[in-house]
Amino acid sequence: MSAFVGIDLGTTNSVVARRNEYGRPEVVPNRDGAPITPSVIYFGTDPPSVGQEAKEYARLGDDQIASFFKPQMGNPLFSLRFGGKDYGATELSALVLARLKADAEAAMGEEVDRAVITVPAYFADAQRKATIEAGRLAGLEVMGIINEPTAAALAYGLQNAGADETVLIYDLGGGTFDVTVARITAEEITVRATAGDHDLGGKNWDDRIATLLAERFAAETGFDPLDEPVALNEVLVRSEQAKWQLSERSSTRVTLQLGTERRSYELTREEFEGMTFPLMDRTRKLTEEALEEAGLRWKDLTGVLLVGGSTRMPMVRRFVTEMSGQQPRAGVNVDEVVALGAVIRAAMLVGEQPEDARPRFTLAGATSPRFTLPGPSRISDVMSHSLGTVAVSPDGSAYVNDVVVRRNVAIPARGTRSYRLATHGGRNDRMEVYLTQGESAAPLDCTILGKYVFTGIEATDAEVDVDVSLSYDQDGVVQVSGMQRDTGHRLAMHVEPVPDDLSWLGRPPEGGAVEGEPAPITLFLLIDVSSSMAGEPLAEAQEAARAFLDRCDFTHTEVGLISFSDQVELQSDATDNARRLIAAINRLDADGTTNLTDAIALARSHLTELDRTRYIVLLTDGYPDSADSAVEEADAAKREGVEIVAIGTGEADLDYLRRLSSTEEGSIFARRGELVQTFGHIARVIAEGGRALRLT
Ligand code: AMP
Repeated sequence: MSAFVGIDLGTTNSVVARRNEYGRPEVVPNRDGAPITPSVIYFGTDPPSVGQEAKEYARLGDDQIASFFKPQMGNPLFSLRFGGKDYGATELSALVLARLKADAEAAMGEEVDRAVITVPAYFADAQRKATIEAGRLAGLEVMGIINEPTAAALAYGLQNAGADETVLIYDLGGGTFDVTVARITAEEITVRATAGDHDLGGKNWDDRIATLLAERFAAETGFDPLDEPVALNEVLVRSEQAKWQLSERSSTRVTLQLGTERRSYELTREEFEGMTFPLMDRTRKLTEEALEEAGLRWKDLTGVLLVGGSTRMPMVRRFVTEMSGQQPRAGVNVDEVVALGAVIRAAMLVGEQPEDARPRFTLAGATSPRFTLPGPSRISDVMSHSLGTVAVSPDGSAYVNDVVVRRNVAIPARGTRSYRLATHGGRNDRMEVYLTQGESAAPLDCTILGKYVFTGIEATDAEVDVDVSLSYDQDGVVQVSGMQRDTGHRLAMHVEPVPDDLSWLGRPPEGGAVEGEPAPITLFLLIDVSSSMAGEPLAEAQEAARAFLDRCDFTHTEVGLISFSDQVELQSDATDNARRLIAAINRLDADGTTNLTDAIALARSHLTELDRTRYIVLLTDGYPDSADSAVEEADAAKREGVEIVAIGTGEADLDYLRRLSSTEEGSIFARRGELVQTFGHIARVIAEGGRALRLT
């Protein structure tokens, strides 16, 4: 006899659920009797150990450890080498799934051969396909995949049968954040909108503590743990433990024993909440984005569900209560609810088989009693990314992202675009289509899903029309097909690797020849830390600076950091060590007036004579002390070939920014809440050679 389960394949922890003999979903304990299995693998044993045992080895600083690989699902460039063998994120996930399957079989006393696996709603196509493949490699038939928040809504809907609610599901896990707005009725769960960030989770909270501790340790002992992987691991482990402690009490003590040095630090919850405020604020922005997409306001919500281990932090509960004006729903186990939803989904899929005439939700299997689950029996889900193609803009001046299936429409969803092809008397019988996933009009700001090549196009005319259809299936997986309009023939199609160099997508369609290696860049970030920046403006500027670094290609870029108030300080010389820069950014404090002149002069002195492309990217929130002399200093830098980008916020004046910057496009005013996006954009433009700013 064989059975199905629901699996929450988490970044940090995984959970399996089944339907018990009474038909109710419940979590299946692993071989240690625990409901949760850490998604961690240790390669020092044969076969590799998975779960708590592996996590213990990681704690001891052993480096034959794979953890936190879920965000890398679908990334062909990610690979770890253990015992002479390379493992991608899919293979690593398959090892975790195989262990979950074996443990579930031991607990259930029967073979487990099918599963519904959950994914973050924010997972794009490649990540979904990789999840399905991981299941297959682990010997599971993947009946379907379901978005984690939707699974949570399903489990909640079951607990509250007969509900008619509009709920917000706020899911903050170890590595991802998803927020979903769903309507739950007795019959159906309808996801109205979803948004999220696949790079925002408990790990970012740990990182903030870790950089603070590392800095204090470095200042006191001269040994910087950031420079040494084993020490860094130790600091990260201690930081996560400190974070857990701060969920329970208002302060904690962290002891670091690194080499011969031992130091102990006090950390209060208040400090911790202060330094991680920008992370909380980012979840607010994404939550508001989801509400806006759903066409709803806070007051339209009847409940808020918290999901994911990181929602145990008191600041999350408080923040969500403040935002929504209501207490989050109690009685939902944040760790288990997703797996429970997954097995309910599996039961629905079994019940939905057309040849199966029994009512929905009945348990398949001859010896078990049949029970009907109450709760919704249909799901209407959405995808958080739009799906489109790279097209040439109507005026022929640029490549653009042509959205074909908009995000947040019910899936399955489908759209078609028509393209005209010159057949050249039969010499041209193929057409290439680049698929995008994302919202931005600029293709390079989207994920390029693949290069789809249609062949066998018949030369029935000098030009023929090809209809390309894109769709999301029920699992959110992308399907593509093409048809020649006049013949009605479906075209053969294959997928080719996306070329490494896509920079031509940022240039005008003509003359899009591929160029050689990009020029090396040295860039100084100049951040205003005058007293008017104190509090949230500085926190946002720090977040923006970190986002900027995220987008820099450090293989050929060095970045330095200068802060300016009446004190001008070189916080970091130009370096390709992003962690060091982030530590410097986190250190910034606001006080005093604004001496921009000396800040530019200091950057200039570090940039002169360098045989590299040189930039100053400065952020200010008002006029500096001597506005004219700052412009003179900027002019001198520009004469030496330094490109200046001037970003203003708060009280800054766009006309003044224009006087500082090298070009009109290089002067930007960003309102509150827009800085992260603005800095991200500038980093991308610089990485592409500064063309959109006409800086080169
Ligand atoms: P998940 O991916 O849902 O299992 O969530 C894992 C994340 O939750 C990790 O970043 C954990 O550090 C975090 N987490 C678990 N328990 C707590 C807690 N008591 N306080 C704060 N964070 C926690």
